[in-house]
Amino acid sequence: MDDALRDLVIANRILAAHNVVDAFGHVSIRHPERPDRYFLACSKGPAGVTRADLIEFTLENEPIDQNGRAMYAERAIHGGIYQARPDVMAVCHNHSAATIPFGVTSVPMRPIFHMGSVIGAHVPTWDIADEFGDTNLLVTTHDQGASLAKTLASGRVVLMRGHGTAVAGRTLKEVVFTCVYLQKNAELVTTARTFGDVRYLSDGEVERAAQLLSEPLSQNRAWEAWSDAIDTSKL
Ligand code: MN
Repeated sequence: MDDALRDLVIANRILAAHNVVDAFGHVSIRHPERPDRYFLACSKGPAGVTRADLIEFTLENEPIDQNGRAMYAERAIHGGIYQARPDVMAVCHNHSAATIPFGVTSVPMRPIFHMGSVIGAHVPTWDIADEFGDTNLLVTTHDQGASLAKTLASGRVVLMRGHGTAVAGRTLKEVVFTCVYLQKNAELVTTARTFGDVRYLSDGEVERAAQLLSEPLSQNRAWEAWSDAIDTSKL
């Protein structure tokens, strides 16, 4: 349990170091012993999150131990996905700028290189306006979180039109890995399109590459390299 919470703090800082999150964006884990709960930091920039900032929530996004701390307005993203997906053990929501163009145009988000295979062959886009009309774009209600999770379906990534992305995974390491390479994939597609038509990975290549990258050898190597590069003196 302590290790899981320590890793959640480290994940906050890795994602900040890679500019996947800035002052905004957040990452959570499902409670290791209670599948009906999750842990998410209080409302704070992820780079400065410590163990003392973590709050336990129900899947209805109600805090167990708020202790006066401010909460992220968009925690409904986390509860919505954990409710819909019993296989999901970690979730990240971010506004990674490189991904935004793909949510607002017809250019698809597809893997362009082997490391990008972890995002899945076809990434859906969720448009909050489809069900909820004009909003401030934030996912703040149970219904909005459930709607987002429905578009995510059984996948790893969902783009959020004019807003950002949500990434779900079977482990926290997998979510961090997917967020970092989703962002790199977006940057590379953007560059490649200035050169000309893009040849993406085939569905078969995506499946094989993603399988290799989801093995502990790759997952642990990335996690160790990225966590070694951040300051872990004050967790
Ligand atoms: Mn957001």
